[in-house]
Amino acid sequence: MSDRAALLGEIAAQVRTCTLCGLHRGRTRTVPGAGNPNAEIMFIGEGPGFNEDQQGLPFVGRSGDYLVKLLKSIGLTRDQVFIGNVVKCRPPENRDPLPDEITTCKPYLDRQIEVIDPLVIVTLGRFSMARYFPNGKITQIHGKPKIEDGRAYYPLFHPAAVLRNPGLVPQMDADFKRLPDLVAQMRAQRSAGVKPPDVPKDDDPPMQQLRLF
Ligand code: SF4
Repeated sequence: MSDRAALLGEIAAQVRTCTLCGLHRGRTRTVPGAGNPNAEIMFIGEGPGFNEDQQGLPFVGRSGDYLVKLLKSIGLTRDQVFIGNVVKCRPPENRDPLPDEITTCKPYLDRQIEVIDPLVIVTLGRFSMARYFPNGKITQIHGKPKIEDGRAYYPLFHPAAVLRNPGLVPQMDADFKRLPDLVAQMRAQRSAGVKPPDVPKDDDPPMQQLRLF
């Protein structure tokens, strides 16, 4: 097992026993995230829904099928990317995750990003978008990457939102088709020696807990 796979396994083990926020009370299974530890692209969604909570995997069910179809359109499978969420446990009745739940869960996602060190982080939906585009409106910024220090942050519509509004399909298709060029651009920057900053620097209790591993 690679170092990255082992480190991701340690984070997942931490998540499995986590009771740091109230979402642990209603979960069936935790959904720490899944995919390739060496992924060049990392997708970040919002939180587990019913199917994810049952299976312990991110983006299964209709949204997951659609994401797989989009990946296939650019020659990728879900095993080649990493898929995670801003919260790792299902909010009751699929409500939005609360700010304090996102903040409490943040160190796990921060650590996953640090371990995987992706070239491109794709945000799916407004809660992951808010990490990198605090004042962004998805209708205005979708498909427009922000490039910082050898990493691109790429906001896309949430697949579930596109399924609910088929009028967004052409925009989602076009945004997805730009991903391979963005990855190639970031590869070139890394080859030229541009490195992303270390993350995270938080000293909050969950981070301290994670650092024990
Ligand atoms: Fe812990 Fe995150 Fe689950 Fe909350 S959502 S209990 S912080 S793993």
